[in-house]
Amino acid sequence: MKIIAMIPARYGASRFPGKLMQDLGGKSVIVRTYQAAKNTGLFDEVYVVTDSDIIREEIENNGGKAIMSKKTHESGSDRIAEAVENMDVDIVVNVQGDEPFTSKKGLQQVLDVFNGKDAHTIDLASLMTEIDDWKEISDPNCVKVITDEDSFALYFSRSPIPYPRDKNADVKYYKHKGIYAFRKEALMDFYRLPMRSLEAVEKIECIRYLEYGKRIKMAVTTAQGVEIDTPEDLVEANRLLKKEDKKSVNNKFRNFPMVPKVVFGAGCFNQLPEILAPQRQKNAPFIFLVDDVFKNNNDLINRIKLRFNDKLIFISADKEPETEQIDQLVKEITSEFKKKPSGIIGIGGGTLLDIAKAVSIMLTNDGSAADYQGWDLVKKKAVYHIGIPTISGTGAEVSRTTVLLGPVRKLGINSDFTPFDQVVLDPDLTKGVPKNQWFYTGMDCFIHCVESLNGTFLNAFSQSYGEKAYDLCKEIFLEQSTTEAEARAKLMMASWHGGMSIAYSQVGVAHAMSYGLSYVLGTKHGIGNCIVFNQLEEFYKDDVVVFKKMVKKHDIEIPKGVCANLTDNQLDKMIEVALSLVPLWENALGDDWQTLMTPEKLKALYLKM
Ligand code: NAD
Ligand code: ZN
Repeated sequence: MKIIAMIPARYGASRFPGKLMQDLGGKSVIVRTYQAAKNTGLFDEVYVVTDSDIIREEIENNGGKAIMSKKTHESGSDRIAEAVENMDVDIVVNVQGDEPFTSKKGLQQVLDVFNGKDAHTIDLASLMTEIDDWKEISDPNCVKVITDEDSFALYFSRSPIPYPRDKNADVKYYKHKGIYAFRKEALMDFYRLPMRSLEAVEKIECIRYLEYGKRIKMAVTTAQGVEIDTPEDLVEANRLLKKEDKKSVNNKFRNFPMVPKVVFGAGCFNQLPEILAPQRQKNAPFIFLVDDVFKNNNDLINRIKLRFNDKLIFISADKEPETEQIDQLVKEITSEFKKKPSGIIGIGGGTLLDIAKAVSIMLTNDGSAADYQGWDLVKKKAVYHIGIPTISGTGAEVSRTTVLLGPVRKLGINSDFTPFDQVVLDPDLTKGVPKNQWFYTGMDCFIHCVESLNGTFLNAFSQSYGEKAYDLCKEIFLEQSTTEAEARAKLMMASWHGGMSIAYSQVGVAHAMSYGLSYVLGTKHGIGNCIVFNQLEEFYKDDVVVFKKMVKKHDIEIPKGVCANLTDNQLDKMIEVALSLVPLWENALGDDWQTLMTPEKLKALYLKM
C-alpha cells in the first residue's frame, strides 16, 4: 500500500497572512510541519502543495518536495486532490500546514484504521478528541462530531451535538481534528462532486462525504495539536517549543542507554579484529575514521588490520567537528559503497569520537546533521559504531551526545542512538599525547565533575560517578602519586566516570561560555573550558582554586585576553550561543537562571577572559 502525506499550504491565509512563513524556533512554520510529517517515518513521500513560489522555495531549500497548484481552490482537500490526480497512490493523508507539532501518534491512529477488519468499508478516516469545557463545546469555531457504536461518523456540526436536553445525562463531546486519511478514490470523488446544502450551511468540508453516502471512520486521539491561526498562537507555539525542549531534557526520570560493551586494559586494542568479525556483513565495509596524528604511526595502523573493502579515512582534529563535514563524509561513504557499512570505528580524541557517532547516525537518517542538533531528534537507529579514545577526558566515549558546530549553533546531537555500541579503552593509546593537550582534555573531565557536582540536577547516580572522577583528577593532576602507566589508566577511567556523571545531570557555566567561544573564535573545547573556568570563581569558588593549583604545578599557560578584540557583533553572537543552552544554565543556576545571568552580565564575564 503506497501511503503519502500532503500538506496543503496557502500563502495568504485570511486571518494571519503569511503565517506559514513565520519563525518558529529558528525554522518557518511550514518547514517544521513538513519535517514533523517526514520524521514520523509513516509515509512513502511527503509533499507540500502550494499556490506560492515563496513556500515552494522555502520547502525546496530545506530539502523537501513541493508541488504548485492552481490558486482558486475552495478547500485544502481540493488542492491536494488536484495534486494526486495523476499519482499512483492508495492512501493520502492530509496534514495541516499550520499544525507544526503534528504528532506521529495521531497520524499512526488515522492510518491504523485501514488495518482493521472493516477496512474495506471505509472511504476515509479522521481524528477526534474528547472535550469537556462547555465554552469549547458551544464555540462555533470548534467542529463537533458524533459517531455510531463502530466509530463511523454520523454528523459534524458547529452546534453542540448531541444537544443535552437532559443536563445530567452522561454524554461525551468530541471535537473534530482536521487530519484525514483518504482512499484516493474518495478524495477524487470529493473533488468532482458539487457541494450540497448541509456542507454549504455549516461550512464544514467533510460533511460532503456524508451527504454522498461515504463512510468516515473516526479514531479518538489525545494528541493535542497546536494550530497557528493568529499571531498570539505563534507566540504560544514558540513558548511550547521551549517547554517541549525542556521537558525532554529535564524530565524527572531519565531512561538513557549506556554503552553495552566495553573492553579495558593496556594492549586491548589488539582485540579489535576479533570484536569486529561477528559484526561484519557481506560486502559491507568497516570504515575507520582515524585522527591524522596517527598517519605515520605504522604500529597503530598495522594493528587495525583492514580486510575486504574496509576503508581508512584520516581526519584532522585541528578544528571542532562541523555538521557540514559530517554531511560530506556521509556523502563520500554512500557514493563509494553500495551497501551500508558494517560499522564505523572512530579512533582519536573527542573530535574523532564525535565525528564517528555523527556519521553513524547520518548513514541511516535523512537530511543534514544540522537537522538533528538538539535533544531526541534522531528517529532511526545508527549504523553499528565503535569508539576508541586516544586521549582521555571528554567522556565522549560514554556520552549520549555528539557535539557539532552547525550553521546557526554549536549543539550536540543528543539521542538514544548516539552512544557507541562498543568502546575499546586501551590506556597505551594515549602515550603520545603532548603535555598541554593532556592537561586541557584532562581538565575537561575535571570541569565536567565540578559542574555536575555543583549543579541543581545532581542526584546520587551522578554524584557517585562525579565524585570518583573528581578524586581521580586530583590524584593525577595534583598528587602525582602514581606511575605514568597507572596515571594513563586512571585518567581514562576518570573520563568515563565524568561522562557518566553528566549523563544524569548536565554541565554548567563553563561549558555554556566555552561553546560561545568556540562558535565565534573556533577555540577548541578543552582549552576553551580552561580559559573560561580560570575566571569563574564567582560560581565555582573552591574548585577554581584547585584548578589554578593544577595549572601552576604543570606550568601550563592559559591564554588571556581572547575576547579583547572582538567586534560588538561577535560578542553578541557569543552571548547568544551561550544563553541558548538553557539546560546548562538551569543546572548551574536553577529555574531562575535568567534573572541571575543576563546578557550584560555575560558580556562582562567574556570581557574578563
Ligand atoms: P581532540 O580530539 O580535539 O584532540 C586534541 C589534539 O590531540 C589533536 O591535535 C589530536 O590530533 C591530538 N591527539 C589525540 N590523541 C593523540 C595521541 N594519542 N597522541 C598525540 N596526539 C593526540 O581532543 P579532545 O579534547 O579529546 O576532544 C575535544 C572535542 O571533544 C571537542 O570537539 C568537544 O566538543 C568534544 N567533546 C565531546 C563530548 C561528548 O560528550 N560528545 C564531551 C566533551 C567534549
Ligand atoms: Zn566538556
